[in-house]
This record gives sequence, structure tokens and C-alpha cells, in this order.
Amino acid sequence: MSTFKSVNPYTQETIAEYAAHTEAEIEQLLAWGHQTFRQTRQIPLQQRCDQMLKLAALLKEQVDEHAAIITREMGKTLKEAKAEVLKCAASAEYYAQHIAGMLQYKPVSSDGRQSYVAYEPKGIVLAIMPWNFPYWQVFRFAIPNILAGNTGLLKHASNVSGCALAIEKLFLEAGFPEGSFQAVLINAKNIEPLIADTRVQGVTLTGSTGAGMSVAALAGKYIKKTVLELGGSDPFIVLKDANIEEAAKIAVKARMQNAGQSCIAAKRWIVEQSVLGDFTDRVSTLLGQMKQGDPFHADTDMGPMARPDLATGLSLQMRKTITQGASLVLGGKQDSANFQPTLLTGVQPRMTAFDEETFGPLAVIISANDEQHAIQLANQTPFGLGSALWTTDLDKARKLATQIESGNVFINAMVRSDARLPFGGVKQSGYGRELSVEGTHEFLNVKTVYIA
Ligand code: NDP
Repeated sequence: MSTFKSVNPYTQETIAEYAAHTEAEIEQLLAWGHQTFRQTRQIPLQQRCDQMLKLAALLKEQVDEHAAIITREMGKTLKEAKAEVLKCAASAEYYAQHIAGMLQYKPVSSDGRQSYVAYEPKGIVLAIMPWNFPYWQVFRFAIPNILAGNTGLLKHASNVSGCALAIEKLFLEAGFPEGSFQAVLINAKNIEPLIADTRVQGVTLTGSTGAGMSVAALAGKYIKKTVLELGGSDPFIVLKDANIEEAAKIAVKARMQNAGQSCIAAKRWIVEQSVLGDFTDRVSTLLGQMKQGDPFHADTDMGPMARPDLATGLSLQMRKTITQGASLVLGGKQDSANFQPTLLTGVQPRMTAFDEETFGPLAVIISANDEQHAIQLANQTPFGLGSALWTTDLDKARKLATQIESGNVFINAMVRSDARLPFGGVKQSGYGRELSVEGTHEFLNVKTVYIA
């Protein structure tokens, strides 16, 4: 029988081993998920909103406990883990307050006596989620979907089963019926029967492009709606009229947060030539001050990466980029899952760190001749998730924002996913949206009602 091992990435000690669910157990999960979906349709929305508020309260009460589970399993600092748990709580509160408006019938005038659009749940949503934000990525899909009347079945990344089970327990403690939210411990290679099952009505995946291709192909085979959030290589554009001090500070945070393991990390710093020296000096100083170490310590800025193989992969990308002509300014050393905050300059298109997603604490600086060149470099990537643009000229910023091929543009700010705003990408970063009205409607039946 296959098992899933959780290993502390900082100490490399095994935390726990979890047995995969058997076929009979998976059938039970599907039956509960489906039955709860059917029953939920008879229950007023307000009841789920009350349960969601209870869940938010539990997350806040138990923040230390949940943060410790996250830090132990995937290595982010405890302070980052706490912020993640509290973000989930705040989002649960937000949706408990706003979901009714998002689900309201939309009247549309036609030649009928009345016509309107209704938003109705469809059934079980299968969520295939990654380890980098092991609570937030899950709550991001679960909160709106469960409030809207769908049920959630989570196949979490195999290194964070403890997080998956803790979240499942929380939903039950908050009073949601069994079947509303369940974790399934299953090997990725055995996913097809779940996607094929008629009770599963949609699949949402956050992860690598490879995982997205494979899951989307299966979902296509069984005509299941998908939402794919597949990472990116976000540009962080600094124009010559930007506040360089602030841009440098946020660039470092946006790249190094979570040990660089974020789909919307600022992976390519594209800087106008005339401010390149100033920007490079400032980020070098800030990166040099970062304290790497035990993620449980309060003064640690950056913990290990989630797994040694991920750090080894990043090291290879870094070494290739240096061989291709980039200069190593800072860091560059890897020890097991620990990877130093690293800075490369002189990075250009056709170098590995420009062309590929780098999922770790590797910052790269790319020089742009002028603002149009900066936009051209920003778009010279197969990805299109997020982007940041730094300039003090907001009219120019609004105009340039229309030229960037990405799912969002943050001006003079760090890209983040926010419960109130739709989140998702274009190009190889995937399709569909999470959060907000657009995300909430993805797995609902947008039903037209026409009365003659
Ligand atoms: P994966 O994309 O492999 O894992 C993400 C999730 O997808 C996990 O639950 C994984 O399960 C599952 N999965 C993977 N392949 C399949 C498949 N064929 N069918 C069904 N489910 C699948 O990420 P990795 O952990 O391997 O990380 C590799 C790279 O992916 C990173 O370096 C980064 O570039 C990217 N990534 C992007 C993320 C983002 O936020 N967009 C998050 C994580 C990774 P299991 O763990 O069991 O394999």
C-alpha cells in the first residue's frame, strides 16, 4: 500500500507517514461528498455563512497550532505561516459577508415576461493543490465553493498530508456536515478515476505546467470544467521615475517571501538602465541582511525550501544561467533544502533564469533600454500570471498596464492574491479565475431562466 511521508525540510526528520486511502475509502468519500451536496441544496445559505464565521474564529483561536503544522511540513517561517492562517480566516469572514450578493439572481431584459440568470452549485469540486501555501491555496477554492453549495475534495501535495487532514478537521469542528470538505490521500498517478467519476463536477489545480497539462487532458477526456493556476515568471518592472528605495524593498520581499516559492513571486526584475546601479546596490544590501535559518525562530527571515530536490533543481538553473553569461553577485550556495538568498545580474532572454520559472530564492536583474523595451522583455515569456510596474507617473502606468500580458498588474505594489479580487493567469500560467465573483462562478451552473 502506498504511503505519504511528511518530512521536516529543515531537519530532514520524518514527521509522520500517512497511508493512502483504499478504493473503498475513496468511494465512501465520493458518496459523502455527493450526498452532502444534495442535502446542502435544501439548507439556507445563512447556515453555511454562520459555519464559515465559526471556521474563521477557530482559525484565529488556533493560529499557533496551524502555523506550526505548516512550518514543520514545508519549512516557511512561523511568522509567514501565521500570516497565511490569518489570511484564510479573514477571507472566510469576507465571503460569509459577501457571498449572498455574488449568488444573487441577475435580471436580464429579453422579449420574455421575465428572464434572469441563476448561479447554482453542481456537485463535488476536486482540488489538486500544492505545498507552497498549503492552507491558503486550499481555502482560496474551498471558501467560495462550499458557501455556494458545492462540496470540496482535496488531493493535496504528498508532502503536506498533515495540513490536508488538519483542514478537514477544521471544517467538521466549524459545524459543516461530513462530506462538505474532505481530504483524499491518493497518489497523483491514480487520479483518473476521480476525475472520471460523475459525482465530480469540476477540477481546480494549482501547480506546475506539467501537472496542469496532465490533469487538463484527463478533464477534457471526461468533459469536466477546469481552473488551472500554473505558476509564472512574473516581471517586476522598475522605470527610471520610480521610487527606487521603495521598489528595491518590495522587490526583495516579493521575490524572497516563502523562500521564493510562490507562483506570483517577482521572478524577473526588469530595470531601466539609468537606475540599474542604484537599484542593484539597494537590493544587494537588503539581500545581504536576510537571516536564513530555523523557520521556527522569530528572527529568521527565510527558512529552507520545501524539499531538497527542489533546491537542487534551482541550483542547476542558477549554474546554467551563470554559464550562459550572468554574474553571481550574492549567495548561490545550496545545502540540502537550504538555498541562500541569491542575486544574478546581467540576465537576458535565452538564459535559463529568464526563460524558465525559478521557484526559490533566486533574484535576477535584467537591464532594459527604455520603458518599451521593459514591456517587451516582460512579455517575452511563456507565462502570464502576475506583473508589477513601478513608476510615479500613474497615467503612464495605466497605459503600460494594458500592454502587459498577464492576469494582473500591480502598480507600485507587490502582486498578491486578495479575497476581493479575481486571481489567475493567461498563456502557460493557466486559465479560469479564483476568488471574487468571477472565481466564485467558475464551478457553478450559470442557469438561464426564461418566462414567456
Ligand atoms: P507539482 O505541480 O508536481 O504538484 C502540485 C500538485 O499537483 C500536487 O498535489 C501534486 O501531487 C499534483 N500533481 C502533480 N502531477 C500530477 C498529475 N500528473 N496528476 C494529478 N496531480 C498531479 O509541483 P512539485 O511539487 O513537483 O513542484 C515542481 C514545480 O512546480 C515547482 O518547482 C514550481 O515550478 C511548480 N509549482 C508551482 C506552484 C504554484 O503555486 N503555481 C506550486 C507548486 C509547484 P503530488 O505531490 O502527489 O505529486
